[in-house]
Amino acid sequence: MKLHEYQSKSIFAEFGIPIPQGRVASTASEAKTIARELGDRVVVKAQVLVGGRGKAGGVRLAKSPEEAEDFATQILGMRIKGLPVRKVLVDEAADPTTELYLSITNDRSAKSPVMIGSSEGGVEIEEVARKHPEKIVRVLIDPLLGLQGFQARYLASSMELSREYWRDFIKIACGLYEAYRKSDATLAEINPLVITKDKRLLALDGKIVLDDNSLFRHPEYIEMRDMDEEAPAEREARMYGLSYVKLDGNIGCMVNGAGLAMATLDVTKLAGGEPANFLDIGGGAGSEKVAAGLRIILADPNVDVVLVNVFGGITRCDEVARGILTAMKEEKPQVPMVVRLVGTNEKDGRRILADADIITADSLEEAANLAVASIKENGAE
Ligand code: GDP
Ligand code: MN
Repeated sequence: MKLHEYQSKSIFAEFGIPIPQGRVASTASEAKTIARELGDRVVVKAQVLVGGRGKAGGVRLAKSPEEAEDFATQILGMRIKGLPVRKVLVDEAADPTTELYLSITNDRSAKSPVMIGSSEGGVEIEEVARKHPEKIVRVLIDPLLGLQGFQARYLASSMELSREYWRDFIKIACGLYEAYRKSDATLAEINPLVITKDKRLLALDGKIVLDDNSLFRHPEYIEMRDMDEEAPAEREARMYGLSYVKLDGNIGCMVNGAGLAMATLDVTKLAGGEPANFLDIGGGAGSEKVAAGLRIILADPNVDVVLVNVFGGITRCDEVARGILTAMKEEKPQVPMVVRLVGTNEKDGRRILADADIITADSLEEAANLAVASIKENGAE
């Protein structure tokens, strides 16, 4: 779950990271009122869950409350990378002299949290990685020890930070690590972390991504979810407890079990197809979950065929078959379905599907080949 900038920064503040004063507004007149309270110069910032708002015109410096109102009107009418702007953050304007980058995330190959710093802040870190890979420093953090002082000092020196800022920088780095750890985040990022004209370190932008699997122990964060910003398919998947990841291909895949889903994507590729998604309906999925899974797949306009691969254990094949029929009645798919069902009650499952004229396959390989063939037959790309 991604948090907005204003939410991320309020968590930063709880962990002692200095942030500009500011408040969020949903109307231009509110923005004007906040600007008046904060003083003359403010920055008006679109609150959408994508990066690069600055480049898209979603971050504007205003010299007066009236100008702040104007900018808020413009920004609240914008779409950034397809997302409508419903709120703006009005922050007191800072005077940055230097923009740095600092984040912490999971390094999956190192199986460890990693803190990443760079003297090149303000631009996306991927861009720095391409153009100036030598300007990125990484330190792996042992979760049993936490971020050590020497590691924070190593970051500060590698980021070419002058000595006078080290004390504050180390506090910020430790605060960021604690924020990441205590909130069960998968990413906590400050970009830019700036040095102001009056020689303070300040987190001008913030981004936190929380691990959805930990939300049960953070009731305070569940309320932060912005339903309006979620893609409808993701929202539905979450409501039914399905894991769904959209991909770029045209073969919709519905599978029970994450490992089987990965194998299904591999075999689909091997057969010359391109999967449209990863979808794990989980163990013991009843017909309701299956129907939701199908609805999600069919809502993707790229999907030209649906490949269902179910290995019945706890999940009963007849339940899955009935789920497919229920979903087909509701959704009336215009694309062919290929189903491979094996395991518990497979005969019943296959009979139910055969009665409804659905293509079934005995093996995954056969199912993948049938799915690819059906796309070629229909002349779709
Ligand atoms: P992003 O484009 O979505 O990452 O939004 P940011 O909040 O990072 O803002 C983009 C850029 O706007 C920053 O890198 C800064 O250069 C600039 N910026 C943001 N806030 C201020 C501010 O208070 N004062 C000044 N002078 N520049 C700012
Ligand atoms: Mn930024």
